[in-house]
Amino acid sequence: MKHINFKNNKTLNMKNITFKYLAKIGLIIFLAEALFACKKSDTTTTASSSSTVPDVYKKIYGASSITSDGTYITIKTTNLPDHKSVYYPTSNSLYEAFSGTTYNGNTFANNGNSISSQSITIKIPLNPTVATSHAATPLGPIGIALNGVVFFNQYAAGGSPLTNEVAGFDQYWGHPQNSGVYHYHVEPKYLTQTKFTSSALLGFLLDGFPVYGPQENGKTLTDSDLDTYHGHTSVTADYPNGIYHYHFTQEAPYLNGSGFYGTAGTISN
Ligand SMILES: [Zn+2]
Ligand SMILES: [Zn+2]
Repeated sequence: MKHINFKNNKTLNMKNITFKYLAKIGLIIFLAEALFACKKSDTTTTASSSSTVPDVYKKIYGASSITSDGTYITIKTTNLPDHKSVYYPTSNSLYEAFSGTTYNGNTFANNGNSISSQSITIKIPLNPTVATSHAATPLGPIGIALNGVVFFNQYAAGGSPLTNEVAGFDQYWGHPQNSGVYHYHVEPKYLTQTKFTSSALLGFLLDGFPVYGPQENGKTLTDSDLDTYHGHTSVTADYPNGIYHYHFTQEAPYLNGSGFYGTAGTISN
């Protein structure tokens, strides 16, 4: 009986020691898991931000695809405008003969080109940053509008002013160049007057900074309201904490001035 009791006591003591030991191990495991969980959740945050496209970029409704690798937003587009144009082939349902006057009251002069589907890939920085040296914008695409159509800068081929080109803008103030790439040098009228408003977000330049229409807080902006890159920093509807952004204005340089404010991404087509 005593022997059994002793044995039982010993067993109990051992159980007690084992319990304490297990409790300690358990605490260590719990702490380790808590630490790991923190690490894991950090990793998860990074992983999810590397695959999640911020809502503001989802506004580019005309894109074929928009993805993020955590550093760059990659936007693919066929660059076909979602509005009617005299530059669509007559067989296309979006073809519409031109009537009236075009940009700045010019008499319309067809440039002889025709809109064709493109395969354009644009990579813009997920977190745009101001550049230490501001690169000039290239000829060809310098950004993308919400309808998936690219923006061009204030120059025609050869770096000459747009003086002769503007008469060739269609009713929405865009036109295709000789390989069928439709583009806007000036305010995309379909977005500012039909789809959205004159103060709306209209797209992004390659440096990731957003582009807005010619109006802000009920005022039509001019070049004198903007810096040499044709933008300024303030709160916008899409960026409540404030951001540098470009504005279209009626007068040259229309969209961008002396180059990109930020470090530009890349474009391939
Ligand atoms: Zn052009
Ligand atoms: Zn502004």
